[in-house]
Amino acid sequence: MENITPATNPLLDFAQPLRFSAILPEHIAPALDQVLAQNRGELEGLVTTARPYTWDNFAQPIEDMRERLSRLWSPVSHLHAVMDSAPLREAYNAGLPKITDYFTELAQDERLYAGYKSIAGSTEFAHLTQAQKKIIDNSLRDFRLAGAELPPPKKARFKELQKELAALTSKFSENVLDATQAWDLCITNEMDLTGLPESARAMAQQSAQEKNLKGWRFTLEAPSYIAFMTYADRRDLRQQMYQAFVTRASDQGPHAGKWDNSELIVRLLKLRREVAQLIGFNNYAEYALQTRMAKTVPEVMDFLRDLARRAKPAAQKDLDELKRFARENHGVPQLEAWDIAYYSEKLQQVRYQISQEDLRPYFPQTQVVPGMFEVVKRLYGLEIVEVKNIETWHADVRFYEIRDRDGEVRGRFYMDLYARANKRGGAWMDECINRKRTPRGVQVPVAYLVCNFSGPVGDRPALFTHDEVTTLFHEFGHGLHHMLTKVDYVGVAGINGVAWDAVELPSQFMENWCWEREALNLIARHYQSGQPIPDDLYEKMIAAKNFQSGMQFVRQLEFSLFDMRLHSDYDPQTDKSVQQLLDEVRAEVAVIIPPAFNRFQHGFTHIFAGGYAAGYYSYKWAEVLSADAFSKFEEKGVFDRATGLEFMQNILEQGGSHEPMELFKRFRGRTPKIDALLRHSGLTA
Ligand SMILES: [Zn+2]
Repeated sequence: MENITPATNPLLDFAQPLRFSAILPEHIAPALDQVLAQNRGELEGLVTTARPYTWDNFAQPIEDMRERLSRLWSPVSHLHAVMDSAPLREAYNAGLPKITDYFTELAQDERLYAGYKSIAGSTEFAHLTQAQKKIIDNSLRDFRLAGAELPPPKKARFKELQKELAALTSKFSENVLDATQAWDLCITNEMDLTGLPESARAMAQQSAQEKNLKGWRFTLEAPSYIAFMTYADRRDLRQQMYQAFVTRASDQGPHAGKWDNSELIVRLLKLRREVAQLIGFNNYAEYALQTRMAKTVPEVMDFLRDLARRAKPAAQKDLDELKRFARENHGVPQLEAWDIAYYSEKLQQVRYQISQEDLRPYFPQTQVVPGMFEVVKRLYGLEIVEVKNIETWHADVRFYEIRDRDGEVRGRFYMDLYARANKRGGAWMDECINRKRTPRGVQVPVAYLVCNFSGPVGDRPALFTHDEVTTLFHEFGHGLHHMLTKVDYVGVAGINGVAWDAVELPSQFMENWCWEREALNLIARHYQSGQPIPDDLYEKMIAAKNFQSGMQFVRQLEFSLFDMRLHSDYDPQTDKSVQQLLDEVRAEVAVIIPPAFNRFQHGFTHIFAGGYAAGYYSYKWAEVLSADAFSKFEEKGVFDRATGLEFMQNILEQGGSHEPMELFKRFRGRTPKIDALLRHSGLTA
C-alpha cells in the first residue's frame, strides 16, 4: 500500500485546529485503511517482541493506537452528523464495518489479554498511577466478560450467542420500525382536526403531500403521535391512534401478528441468560452490573422499590385530580388511556397558564451563552473566551477556550447551536480530542457541543425556550466532564471508562442552575427590554415544574422494574409469560393500568434493541446522584466557590480513574441519598 501523508490527506493531519473544509469524502477510506493497517502492524510487533510486558512497551502503545483511530474517525463521524451529504454518508457507512471488525478482533485477541494479565501480575503494577491501574483492570474485566477465560467449546458457543443476539436485536427494531411506518390516520375533513395547534396541522399536511394524499396525515412517529394524543378533540380518533401505537409489532391491533415480536422477546431473554451463565453469573442483570456503579441486583431492586413506595401516593393523587378535572370540567365519567395526555394538557393550561413560548423572549442566545459561562466562572473560577478566526464546518459555529484560575488552558470546544438541513436532530456532546500526556506536554481536550435550536431571524437574536436552555446546560455539563479532566491517560480521561449509570451525573447536575433565581438573572434577560424574568412568571414556571411528577416518576419505575425483573428473576423457560410479569410489576407500582390489548413491551426498543438491557434504572439512578450533589450547593449557596471547586476536583477532574461511588463519597462525604430528588420532584410530604 502506498503511504499517504498528512499533506495529501487532511484526516491524517492531527495538528490543531482541524481543517474541516479540507476534509473530503474521498479522503476517508484511504486514511482509515492506512491507520487500521498501521495499528494492526504495530500490534503484531508488540505481541511478538515485547517481553516482559510493561506499561510503556505494551499498554501505552495500545492506548496510542486507539487514540490514533479516534482522532481520525471523530471528525468523520462528526461531519456525518452535522453536515451530511450523500457521498459523505456513503464513505462513513463504508468505514463503519471496518471499525467494528477491528474492535471485535481486539476484544477477542487472547495475546492482548495475556499481556494485560502479565502487567497486572508484575511488580511494576504497584507503582503505576491509579489511572493506569484502572485501565488495566477495566481491560481484564472486559476480556473476562467477553469470554476470554472460557474453554474453547464454550468460547465458540459464546461467539455464536453474540452473533444471534445481534441479529435478534436488529430484527426487533426492524419490526418496530415497519409496524410504525405501516399505519397512518388520514383526515380529509378539517372539522376532525379541532383542538390541534397550527404546527401539528402543518406537519400533518406536509406528511400527506409527501404521500400524494389530500388532507392531513398523522403517523405513529413520536412528534405526530404525541401532538395528536395531546390536542385532538376527537376522542374516537385518539382511541384508534392509541390502539395502533401500543400494539405495534405484536399479536394485537390493526396489524396483529404481522411484525410480531413475541417470540423474539422470549428468545432474546433466553440467550442473554445463557450468555450470563456461560461467564458464571446467575442471570443477565448480574452480568450487566459488572461494569456499572450499582453492584448487585438486590441493590437496584431495593432502590427502585423504595422510590416506588414513596412516589406512588403522589402518582395516585395526580391521577385522581386528573379524573376529577375530566369529570367536573368536561363531563367525562370514565378516563381512558387515550384521554390521559389530552386532559393533562387541559388541566395544565387551566392551572398554570404558562407555556414555553411565554419564556422565549427572556432567553436570547446573546444572554444565555455568556450567562452560562458566567455561571461556570462563579462555580469553578473558569474563564471562557471565544477564539476568532478558527476554521469550522459552518458559519454559525463558534469556538471557545477554557482557562482556569492559574491561566492554564483546560479545554476548547466548538458550539453549533442551530438546526439546519443535513444536520442530525437532537443535542449532544462528542469528543473531538482527549486529554493525554505526551512527550511535548499535555494534549488539551476538545469537545463538540451540538444542539438544534431555532436560529436568529433578521436582526433578532435566537430566542430559546426554557427546555432548550436546560438542554444546553445538560450538554455543557457533559462537555465540562470531558474537558476539565486531569487524567493523563485516554482510556479513563473525561467521560471514558465512566460507569454507564454514573455518566449522566455532571450533565443533569448542571440543569439545576436553570431553575435558580440567582442563576436565571445571569442567563435570562428580555431581548428587547433587558428586564429579568418577572416574579409572577418565575413563580408560575416553578409551580408548573412538578406537574404530574408523581405519575411520571412511577412510569419510569414501572419500566425499570420490568426491565430488571425480566433480566434477573424471570426465567423464560417457566410458564409465566412476559405479559404476566409486566402485569405483576404494574400491580405493584403503576397507577395507570392500560387496557388488556396494550403490548408496550413489543416496542420497548431501549431494552430489546438498544443498550439499556438491565439498565433502564440508570435514568433514576443518575437523577438521584445529580440531585444529591446539587443539594450540597443548596446547603452552602448555589454559587459557593469552595463547593464548586470540590465538585470540580472530586468529580469532573477525575474522569473514569476511580469507582464512581468513591468519587461521589469524596465530594458529598457520604453515600447518595434519595431525599433531594424526592424534594426537587415535589414528592416529599
Ligand atoms: Zn446526557
